[in-house]
Amino acid sequence: MARSPASKRRNALVALGGQPSARADGEVWLVGAGPGDPELLTLKALKALQAADVVVHDGLVSEAILDLAPASARRLSVAKRKSRHSYAQDEINRLLVAFARDGLTVVRLKGGDPFIFGRGGEELEACRAAGITCHIVPGVTAALAAGASAGAPLTHRGAAQAVTFVTGHAAVGGEPDLDWPSLARANQTVVIYMGVSTAPRLAARLIEAGRAASTPALIVEDASLPTERRIVTTLAGIPAAAADVTGPALLIVGEAMALAQPSSLPLMGRDSDAQHRRLGESEASTEPSLSSHTPTLAAAQSFPPHRGGGRIAGGRSQ
Ligand code: SAH
Repeated sequence: MARSPASKRRNALVALGGQPSARADGEVWLVGAGPGDPELLTLKALKALQAADVVVHDGLVSEAILDLAPASARRLSVAKRKSRHSYAQDEINRLLVAFARDGLTVVRLKGGDPFIFGRGGEELEACRAAGITCHIVPGVTAALAAGASAGAPLTHRGAAQAVTFVTGHAAVGGEPDLDWPSLARANQTVVIYMGVSTAPRLAARLIEAGRAASTPALIVEDASLPTERRIVTTLAGIPAAAADVTGPALLIVGEAMALAQPSSLPLMGRDSDAQHRRLGESEASTEPSLSSHTPTLAAAQSFPPHRGGGRIAGGRSQ
């Protein structure tokens, strides 16, 4: 994606809003911030942040991660919030292009991975259309953090030959148009992003399509953050289990979730600002949401030996 010096020189003459610009174009970096724990940033994400002139970020990306950018870098939150001006996706696209045309190194910091339900593709297309160089830095998507925290592999020999990431929320009509018969087949893991508010309907669709109601399921809220909560349940138990979830959360269904460990810590400091925290979902694939709680640099979790209750139905011995 890097352009030749000659093309950069040509771009220095590109007019912005009809006015000749003396500066060479900057670049846009679409950077995955990971699920919340700053230690789950990639080295490449850290380097990009350290080189930023301007950081355009989702509202709930933690301060701990934003603080990795130079103090001189301008920070701009483009979170969609009910109480203040919200940015439509095309406004964000225009903003990125305008900053880059101003010669700046723009880091667009997004929760998880920019290309997993993050609308990174739209921002990339906007940059391409404007002739702005755009680099993509992948991030740890929430599903990977959730599986790791729970000690539940998303694929598992004999129990999960495939893993599918789906959205639980459609931009129009609330319910996504998914291939339910295919998702209902046994021995695969289905990870549902943005599915808390539609959990009862999603669970019903899977059961109607033939997935066993007793299929192990896991809900992980605030994956990788100190406030993380893991609820081990079954497909039939998802609606009840999801009822009091207020933060960003994943619903994960599949035989391999029999290995998942529930949270053992009592819930602490769970706030009541549920509307604010469920942002990433209620605004259907608008902005990824990360917890506003300050993350600690928590080490990777370790697990006690697995104790009963977690046998994988139908699984082969390993
Ligand atoms: N690009 C993000 C996903 C954005 S969509 C990624 O790759 O992870 C927003 C949804 O992601 C939320 O509704 C929730 O389902 C999920 N999510 C994001 N961060 C999460 C976290 N820390 N824990 C659990 N789910 C999370």
